[in-house]
Amino acid sequence: MTGGQKTLVIRNGNLIDGSGHPTARNDAIVIEGNRIKSVGALPGDIQLADRANVEVLDAAGQWIMPGLIDAHCHVSYGYPLIKGEGKGKGTTRPEFSTLKSARSVQKVLRSGVTSISVPGGTWFTDVGVRDAIRLGLMEGPRMYVAGRMIVTYGCIEDDEPSWEGTPDHSIGKLCNTSDEMVTEVRRQGKHGVNFIKMADSRSGESQMLAREEIAAVVGEAHRRNLRVGIHSRGAGSTRAAAEAGVDWIIHADLATEADLEAVARAGMPIIPTATFLAIVIELGNKVGQEQIQIDINRMKRHYDALGVLMHKAREMGIKLLVGTDTGNNSFTPYGENHAKELEIFVKHGGFSPMEAIVAATRHNAYAVGLEGEVGEIAAGRLADIIVVNKDPIADITVLQGGRNLSWVIKDGKIIDRSPERNAMLIFQEAAE
Ligand SMILES: [Zn+2]
Repeated sequence: MTGGQKTLVIRNGNLIDGSGHPTARNDAIVIEGNRIKSVGALPGDIQLADRANVEVLDAAGQWIMPGLIDAHCHVSYGYPLIKGEGKGKGTTRPEFSTLKSARSVQKVLRSGVTSISVPGGTWFTDVGVRDAIRLGLMEGPRMYVAGRMIVTYGCIEDDEPSWEGTPDHSIGKLCNTSDEMVTEVRRQGKHGVNFIKMADSRSGESQMLAREEIAAVVGEAHRRNLRVGIHSRGAGSTRAAAEAGVDWIIHADLATEADLEAVARAGMPIIPTATFLAIVIELGNKVGQEQIQIDINRMKRHYDALGVLMHKAREMGIKLLVGTDTGNNSFTPYGENHAKELEIFVKHGGFSPMEAIVAATRHNAYAVGLEGEVGEIAAGRLADIIVVNKDPIADITVLQGGRNLSWVIKDGKIIDRSPERNAMLIFQEAAE
């Protein structure tokens, strides 16, 4: 036990342990400090009546599973938009961005998401919020973060004319040569990022990062123990990223079979991220695309291509991770859609509900640098666990929006999700 914390015992219920084993009856999960001590029969040395030292949660009739992981969640893009806040592209002030991010991640945790991978944001906001959580200043999910995305002229997030470049509040960082990219990797590494985000063209219309440039970033990042993720919708950039040895590829929807073979050979996972597209399509159909200023047909093309990609990737043995792009737009509120990607995996990608859950837990642990530590309920693992009152195998959508959660446990501690407690946090609904 650490710091006088009680031993926590989850009794009864149905265990979905994240490994892919079928749902099984749970007797006792014992948690000491921030780790799972045992799973199975209640150990003889645990005195359930010893209420001074043991806390018992009775999960009878409920489902126990690892905390969800979102492998693609932005927290410092400037959303939600807040009334009275100065308008700029995204956000205009690091201090304000940090406070808003700190609030947003608490919503994420309260919806049952205990870890997030953050592929890009403003300044080093995400590093600061990650560290505040890690040091116990505030509650929040485990965060694995990148900094501003490395881009060349014309890539996604290079939105200003060339004479403006990428201003400091931009999510992109212009680097037009390998040397500039390597310098940026070093700068971001010095400021504490976990990984480097590169980004090719917005829709894959043309390849804007050369294989040699990606390889230069990968070489420098890996020397510094940083990983590399890349936004790549196009065929050429996906193949180049695979050959350059990035750690994961985001989207890859226009990749041909031959490109995917290169990915399969190289062995990195893909994070398709269909949730954002699905939300935009649903909303666009409802309010008209002029309202949301996004080309719905383009979104539909990407969405359909991702369905094909999911099926093909499975056949080829490419691992697919579960990410949503929550926080990239005002249509994607925190805490709402982190489990929607699982529904899409099942309805559109050929996954069983159990396979989707394994992808969002055990496999997703890789995207937060905690493979073998989170994402499974087993002795020795970090105790990130949720308990839901409906069966996610019968209906995968019950995991969405935190609506069926009974408990969220992160790092061995039960998160107090009561309205009274929420009101005490920097968490007031009135602001939006
Ligand atoms: Zn994104």
